Formats: sequence, C-alpha cells, structure tokens
Amino acid sequence: MNKIIDGKMVRDLKKKELIEKIQVLNTKLTLVVISVGDDPASKVYVHQKEKMATEIGYNFLNLHYDKIEENDLIDNIKKLNDDKTITGIIVQLPLPKYLNKDKILNTIDELKDVDGLTNCNLLKLIKKQDCLIPCTPKGIITLLDYYNVDLSKNIVIVGRSELVGFPLFHLLLNKNATVTLCHSKTKNLEYYTKQADILIVAVGKKELISKDMIKKDSIIIDVGINRFDNKIYGDVSNDAISVASLITPVPGGVGPMTVISLMENIYKAYELQNKYQVEVL
Ligand code: NAD
Repeated sequence: MNKIIDGKMVRDLKKKELIEKIQVLNTKLTLVVISVGDDPASKVYVHQKEKMATEIGYNFLNLHYDKIEENDLIDNIKKLNDDKTITGIIVQLPLPKYLNKDKILNTIDELKDVDGLTNCNLLKLIKKQDCLIPCTPKGIITLLDYYNVDLSKNIVIVGRSELVGFPLFHLLLNKNATVTLCHSKTKNLEYYTKQADILIVAVGKKELISKDMIKKDSIIIDVGINRFDNKIYGDVSNDAISVASLITPVPGGVGPMTVISLMENIYKAYELQNKYQVEVL
C-alpha cells in the first residue's frame, strides 16, 4: 500500500484548477514580493514564487533592496496598497534584524496580504471569518482534505510559530478537531506525540521525531526543512514510514502545497477586493 502523501501531485491538480479560473478573468493579477538583504534561502524562495506565478499566468514583480530605511519601506508598501493594479503583496522573511518585522507586515492592506500574516487576518482566522490564510497551514488543510483524512481524531501539532503551528491550531479547531499544540517548553514531548492519530511537526530540527515517538498507523505531516550537506531533511526520521499509515515526504510533501496555496491566495485576494468594492459602492 502506498503510504506517501504526494504533495506534488495535489499541487499539480490545484494548479490546473487555478489556471482554469485565472484564464476566464478579464484582468491580469499581479503579485509583488518585497525582499531586503542577501539571505540565500530567500533568493531561492522568491525564485520559486516567480516561476509558479508566471506559470499560473500572474504578473510578478520583485522589489529588492540591498538596504532600506524602515520608513521608506513602509511608504513603499503604502503606495502598493493604494495601487489598484497590484493584487497581492508579500514581504519575504526573514527581514534583516534592524527592521521591525511586525510593523512592516502590518502595513500591508489586509486584502492584499496574500501570506496571511497581518494581525487583521490572524484575528479573522481565529474568529472563523472569511480572510487570507497563511500558506503552509492552508496547504496542509488542502492535503488532508484531498486524502479524505477524518479530522475528528486526536491531532498533535509540534511547533507554535505564527507562520505554521499557531494558525494551523486554530484552523483545525474551527474544523472541530481536538488539537494539542506542543512547543519548545513542552515537557515530555513523546507523551503527546505517541497519542496523536494525526501528528504535524513544524519545528526545524532534523529528525526530532523518531519512529518510537509515533503511534502505530498514525498520519504524519512533516513540515520541517533542514538543510545538511546539500540535502534536505524533515523533522521526522525516515524510518517513521514503517509505523505510519500515511506520511508526507521531505521534500515533495508540504513544500509544494505552500507555494500553490500562495497562488490560490492571490486569486482569493482578488475575490475579496471585488467583494469589498461592491459592499462600499
Ligand atoms: P520557528 O522557528 O518560527 O518555530 C519553531 C517552533 O518549534 C517554535 O514554536 C518552537 O517552540 C518549537 N520548537 C523548537 N524546538 C522544539 C523542541 N525541541 N520540541 C518541541 N518544539 C520545539 O519555525 P517555523 O517558521 O514554524 O518553521 C518550522 C520548520 O518548518 C522549519 O524547518 C521551516 O523551514 C519549515 N517550514 C516549511 C515550510 C514548507 O513549506 N514546507 C513552510 C514554513 C516553514
């Protein structure tokens, strides 16, 4: 039996569906990615976004600054907020330390916040309101949905970041799952992971979760990306596949779903902007 959750296959399916929706629009949607500094991983991620956006049929613009004053960056984001030709805005993370990440992210108009990282969108997500959802949690929900995973089980998430674990906790809770959120201060992590029917790990520590920390026949979603010697490893050890009933590979599991979820968010932003325009008319 094939135990692998194939993120690339689901991504390709969702990509096809999205292209069909984009093709009937009488306007071309535009994604702007703002990047600052010279983080090498960021360059790879920006390139991935450009490639996918172009394939889908979006305009793509990368505003890159080697260095920029915080106020200038904020002014530039405000201009993009006011520019009706721009559909979505992303600030590529991490930002250099001299910039206030929260202040900058929260300058983005909530209707253009296609990474779903503004306070407005997080609050709406928690309150179950229509909004732009962070891409990795959204991609995980799409994957679980595609594989018809019953969420009325015991779900354990390891990692409580604003990017992954925290929003995912609320998304699953809103879908009536019973969710436990573990983090770096959790004592006896193994106690929780062993009870999980669905275990989702988003920490960034190579093979933090070993085979003997996993419940037999559980479903494992490995979000981790850990680079060593030009290879990519997850947070869950490879031999976990012998215990799990379904498992995401790294790479090829959650990663492709994050990128396609961003692309879906650009279309969603367009829909929300139109809805809002109609409401204020
Ligand atoms: P983060 O550093 O912001 O958060 C890590 C979380 O792990 C924290 O909440 C921390 O409390 C928890 N943690 C740290 N050590 C722990 C331990 N020993 N036991 C239990 N919890 C512990 O990281 P992030 O942005 O959430 O990313 C996590 C991982 O997921 C990274 O490897 C990142 O590269 C990867 N990631 C992958 C994708 C993707 O598309 N596949 C997207 C986002 C992040």
